[in-house]
Amino acid sequence: MSLPESPFDPAAARAEVLARIAAAARACGRDPADVTLVAVSKQQPWDRVAPVLAAGQTVFGENRVQEAMERWADRRGEIELRLIGPLQTNKAREAVAFFDVIESLDRDRLARALAQEAQKAGRCPRLYVQVNTGEEEQKAGVVPTEADAFIAACRDAYGLAVEGLMCIPPAEEPPGPHFALLARIAARNGVAKLSMGMSGDFETAVRFGATSVRVGSALFGERAKA
Ligand SMILES: *Cc1c(COP(=O)(O)O)cnc(C)c1O
Repeated sequence: MSLPESPFDPAAARAEVLARIAAAARACGRDPADVTLVAVSKQQPWDRVAPVLAAGQTVFGENRVQEAMERWADRRGEIELRLIGPLQTNKAREAVAFFDVIESLDRDRLARALAQEAQKAGRCPRLYVQVNTGEEEQKAGVVPTEADAFIAACRDAYGLAVEGLMCIPPAEEPPGPHFALLARIAARNGVAKLSMGMSGDFETAVRFGATSVRVGSALFGERAKA
């Protein structure tokens, strides 16, 4: 006889993820308060997101501008919202108006568009440069050898403050070397924040210095296929 499967409990999952982040931080002498949990709510039904919000989660990540606006427009004041997916220049205005943080800055055209829109809007989201550490064809992000020049251009040519760097390591490789590479690029460019680590590897990311981890399925369960 087997017990019926208990329903997935996102609030309990959040407590467990927070505990794992804290343990990973302490194990390497870091303060758990220095690691922000970004709850990646993309493609998740509201009945899974609501309990996490109710449990006190205040930072959420979405990968599409339109989906994020539909979901969060009415609750915008309550949370910090981060865009973690690729951004088209023709959506720059909406993204500047709607997000607190954009983590996918990765090319000159986008830097120029964001700078223009920020000037018009009189506000600029905090910005992360995405680095394609695995140099994967299908992935967004500036390649590592061009990262220094791109960060300098964001600052000097476009007047943008770069708060952090973001990466998504290749799925089939150990993530540690990619996290280490991102940390090195940040250090030599005087960039303070590191957005790295997802459901499968956030503890490793904390060990390599992540200041925020982007966790979806470990918090909310598997996503519906897009
Ligand atoms: C979907 C997504 C995540 C979350 O992935 P999980 O494996 O579900 O934790 C993190 N970062 C980015 C950029 C994503 O697109």
